[in-house]
Amino acid sequence: MRVRDHIALSTAAVAPLSPWLGRRALYAWAAGIGLDVDHYLWFCASGRRWNPIAAVRLFNEPAPPQNAATRLFHTPFALVTVALLGLRRQGVRAVVLGMALHVALDAYHKQRVDRTRVLALRRDDYTCQVCGLRGPELATHMSQQPRLLPSYELRHHVTVCSACHEAAHAAVPSAADRQMRPAIPATASGG
Ligand SMILES: [Zn+2]
Ligand SMILES: [Zn+2]
Repeated sequence: MRVRDHIALSTAAVAPLSPWLGRRALYAWAAGIGLDVDHYLWFCASGRRWNPIAAVRLFNEPAPPQNAATRLFHTPFALVTVALLGLRRQGVRAVVLGMALHVALDAYHKQRVDRTRVLALRRDDYTCQVCGLRGPELATHMSQQPRLLPSYELRHHVTVCSACHEAAHAAVPSAADRQMRPAIPATASGG
């Protein structure tokens, strides 16, 4: 899920709680968004690169790095560690709440995307919709990406082979937020 989606959803979830949480709502909100900083830390540590724009670009590629090290803060271990560090402190509890919200949203997103992927592959008869290649090595691409929040609509997902998928992402490298032209099924990033 994109950072902007986490910003929108964290805001929607935490804002109604702010009368009760007070300033702690800000901690929960920031933790709910900032958890993805582990991706950036991994990016810096693994390649001694620092450019955040390059990091965002890397994680928007068709097959972004997905090893456990890129998601260090997304683990139950991280949640428990933060909780143990200061469960008696209300501020820390708010941070744990924000982290848990982020992880839950990611899990929900993955489940919905995986389901849509299976349906898109079946609909397209396991055939790349750009070049016609058939086979088990196919992926699906989110061909139409809403400006905010991901789309789980089947018509927005298209089956592509890895070469066509890479070409689609390369064609519009910063297109995470652009809508693709329906005639060309693969010019925006996202899935
Ligand atoms: Zn293809
Ligand atoms: Zn894609």
